[in-house]
Amino acid sequence: MRVLVTGGAGFIGSSLVESLLADGEDVVVLDDFSSGRRANLPATHGRLRVVVGSVLDDATVERLVGEVDHVYHLAAAVGVSLVGRAPRHGLEANTLGTLRVLAAAAARGVPTVVASSSEVYGARDAVPYREADAMCLGVPSEVRSGYSCAKAWGECLAFAHAAESGLPVLVVRLFNTVGPRQRARYGMVLPRFARQALAGEPLTVYSDGRQTRCFAHVEDVVSAIRALVARDRFGAVFNVGSEAEVTIGELANCVVRRAGSPSRIEHAAFESHHPGFGGGPRRRVPDLSALRQAIGAVPQRSLDSIIDEVLRSPRSSPLAQPGDSRGTTRPRAPSRPLLRTR
Ligand code: UDP
Repeated sequence: MRVLVTGGAGFIGSSLVESLLADGEDVVVLDDFSSGRRANLPATHGRLRVVVGSVLDDATVERLVGEVDHVYHLAAAVGVSLVGRAPRHGLEANTLGTLRVLAAAAARGVPTVVASSSEVYGARDAVPYREADAMCLGVPSEVRSGYSCAKAWGECLAFAHAAESGLPVLVVRLFNTVGPRQRARYGMVLPRFARQALAGEPLTVYSDGRQTRCFAHVEDVVSAIRALVARDRFGAVFNVGSEAEVTIGELANCVVRRAGSPSRIEHAAFESHHPGFGGGPRRRVPDLSALRQAIGAVPQRSLDSIIDEVLRSPRSSPLAQPGDSRGTTRPRAPSRPLLRTR
């Protein structure tokens, strides 16, 4: 198989590439390195080609899609810090990029996996979130609403192509995904807490810390996506994540404890750090019934072991500041099974 991974140098994309290469596939990565890093990928590999370019560039996208049997479309602007700083760019990348990739794939009938987000559920109170649940649209002027609408629009477009041209599309709604290569600079909570704890600085918990999330290890997420493809589950949308719910306050305490850190926990208003972004849901938990039924397994790595791995990562080191300019060593592959079977 020859596959194209857009955003393949990013945090999730590079794990996917690693897994595809390990299984003998030929991989082309298209990445503009806006948030991805060349160092996330093997320096040289006979079956890997890295193209530096944008999913907004029609000619490049058409050429590369024309060379492959499958597309994984992961390129996106993500993270409260990145998207909050450049909301227009975020909207354009996340809509027009998906538009270009799907148009090229449809013209050639290349089966395409579209990475969507739990943000499409919006500000729901009722958990768990099921794939058939209605979107809960937010306030349009808030950046978070734009992000969720862009991801939802990408899903709509994927299924529109499927309806009109029969393009095989598979939409994966990724919930909070974490792992050692994730960068603190884009605002995601676990790498931020890990770095703060290791530096002995206060951990900044937004709001009252009773909001919840479920954190899945990136390699479990990649295994689940690949299992869906291997079982030919095109034509559908699947939640992919962990169902182990934790409050952000508990997460902070757990990071401090496991790091053996003297850090205190500080509370701050989310709005004061990210004005105009819009706060997230109080609870976010996926219903994984569809995933379990499709592949017989779900991401299951424990939060404790994930935190330990993130704490050991060079990315978490205080020496890696500012902006993760150091700490680019690639983590070792895990030796344990990634998914829990039914
Ligand atoms: N959060 C926090 N401190 C931080 C970063 C995030 O308390 O330094 C909170 C944030 O308000 C949210 C949760 O942690 O409730 C997860 O945030 P993240 O940005 O990682 O993901 P998302 O909000 O998209 O779930």
